[in-house]
Amino acid sequence: MTEFDETYDFVVAGSGGGSMCAGLLAKSLGHSVLILEKTDLVGGTTARSGGVMWIPNNPFMKRDGVEDSYEKAAAYLDSVLGDAADAPGASRERRHTYLTEAPRMIEFLAGQGIRLTRVSEWPDYYDERPGGSVAGRTVVAELFDVNELGLWKEKLRPSFIQLSLPATLEEMMELPAYKRSWQVKWLMLKLALRGLAAKLGGKHWVAGGAALQGRMLQAALRAGVELRTGSPVKELIVEDDAVKGVTTVKDGHAWRVGARLGVLINAGGFARNQGMRDRYQPGTSVKWTMAAPGDTGEMIEEMMRRGAAIAQMEERVGSQVTLPPGAEESEFKPTAQAMTASPHAILVDQSGVRYMNEGGSYMAYCKGMLERNKSVPAVPSWAIFDSQYLRKYMLAGTMPGSKKPQNWTDSGYLKAADSIDQLAAQLKIDTATLGATVERFNGFVAKNRDEDFHRGERAYDNWLGDWLHQPSATLGAIEKAPFYAVPVLPGDVGTYGGVVTDAQARVLRVDGSVIQGLYATGVSTASVMGRAYPGAGSSVGPSFVWGYVAARHACEPQSSTRPSR
Ligand SMILES: Cc1cc2nc3c(=O)[nH]c(=O)nc-3n(C[C@H](O)[C@H](O)[C@H](O)COP(=O)(O)OP(=O)(O)OC[C@H]3O[C@@H](n4cnc5c(N)ncnc54)[C@H](O)[C@@H]3O)c2cc1C
Repeated sequence: MTEFDETYDFVVAGSGGGSMCAGLLAKSLGHSVLILEKTDLVGGTTARSGGVMWIPNNPFMKRDGVEDSYEKAAAYLDSVLGDAADAPGASRERRHTYLTEAPRMIEFLAGQGIRLTRVSEWPDYYDERPGGSVAGRTVVAELFDVNELGLWKEKLRPSFIQLSLPATLEEMMELPAYKRSWQVKWLMLKLALRGLAAKLGGKHWVAGGAALQGRMLQAALRAGVELRTGSPVKELIVEDDAVKGVTTVKDGHAWRVGARLGVLINAGGFARNQGMRDRYQPGTSVKWTMAAPGDTGEMIEEMMRRGAAIAQMEERVGSQVTLPPGAEESEFKPTAQAMTASPHAILVDQSGVRYMNEGGSYMAYCKGMLERNKSVPAVPSWAIFDSQYLRKYMLAGTMPGSKKPQNWTDSGYLKAADSIDQLAAQLKIDTATLGATVERFNGFVAKNRDEDFHRGERAYDNWLGDWLHQPSATLGAIEKAPFYAVPVLPGDVGTYGGVVTDAQARVLRVDGSVIQGLYATGVSTASVMGRAYPGAGSSVGPSFVWGYVAARHACEPQSSTRPSR
């Protein structure tokens, strides 16, 4: 029998999306909870993220009179994921649990005082499929005054949304059009007044993932969840084939923590571990990821050491990036998510040929790049655009029409030329090929129909584009010199495969049996979304939902399938 240094009812490794949700549930059932976080900051990549959760049929849709249902969402997942025979994380049983429990989880959080809402317009990424929704199924936290955390404020991992104005994610996405729209100018004024009021009132608003995890942290602390930073979980403690606790580090020494009801692993994926990438995702690089620094995969390896099955390890939440000089080393990489879906822009491989609908999900986009690269060099691919693009849209994190740093051109990152032929010569692409690609695309623009890849035929493609551009939000000719190119890489915001878990979030062995006492959630697991990204929030949403499911299973006294101890 292991002698523990201390014992809690429920112990969580990692302070990711599901951790505090699980902690709140366990506390609401009267149990003691300890969350151990390896880094010095709380919240994981979830805090860094947009904080968007994909929750079909959520209470805010009902509030807003938007029609959705379990059946509709199930039909959608069926149409996007199929039977997912090669993705055990996305088994029908788990999908059913996800769709059933996700709205309940949101109700639970609302009951705990977490202020959430929905983004009204954020189409599913395959909205044209059966059951797809154009209206947002996405749930986000309301802006949060991080000063309310007191001393814990400094411990919250910041979001990638670093604006001088206190804007929500939805508002932030409008801002680049401020020069062209009175509506957005008015929004800027509103945000400036909100900023002024915050200054006078001593508030420090944060948005996105920091708002979500800030609110979760506040609620967890109030409920009495114990949270320790700088406390890596090193090992699982196993006795009689069941997990009984974990080994962490306290004051520089090994420290054994017992868990009476269960251990939940919410320790992220392996986006920051090049060795694991080389093994499971060859051709991808830690230099292209935006995942938080703690995302190094050791808890997945520890669970494997204890017999856990793994699946979907090749999958990532791809997110295209373009990296000007210095960006490789930066924590926050400039996204190119909307770039080539905007008017006056396309993506071509290194032979100058267009090869995808640039409007698809970022996961599909990056998969498409890696797949193309097997037959034609396509990593990096080139974003090709004209002066209209540069005047109206963002480039590598800079505002529309702004002067670009001199070292972008000096270093060869941003290529500029007076003609497509000259641009092709700079890119070492056959001039006739690039010329034909641009001419063909411009022909589609004139017809307002992309006959090759159908860009613009689903709501999501247009949502990524420019709502002010007519007649198509996404198709616009590349015709006004100068012409430009920048490299685009298949980056990511995290990995998407890990240990296999059942519909109670219990970790399974290769033979399908349950490792008693061990639960996992988030990107430490093989995703319930299989090998696709159905809609915005398909990573944070599941992390919360499976944390909720795990804690309920472990801690609810009447649960018949509770692990035997
Ligand atoms: C810029 C950006 C925007 C994004 N936007 C969205 C979005 O809006 N919606 C969405 O669904 N997805 C989004 N993503 C992806 C998403 O944020 C992540 O996939 C998701 O947050 C992962 O959550 P998690 O709960 O699994 O782990 P995390 O939130 O990453 O938490 C894991 C935690 O475990 C800790 N840890 C690791 N090892 C140990 C250990 N041994 N012991 C103790 N602690 C450990 C880590 O330090 C970390 O704090 C975005 C990502 C980025 C980078």
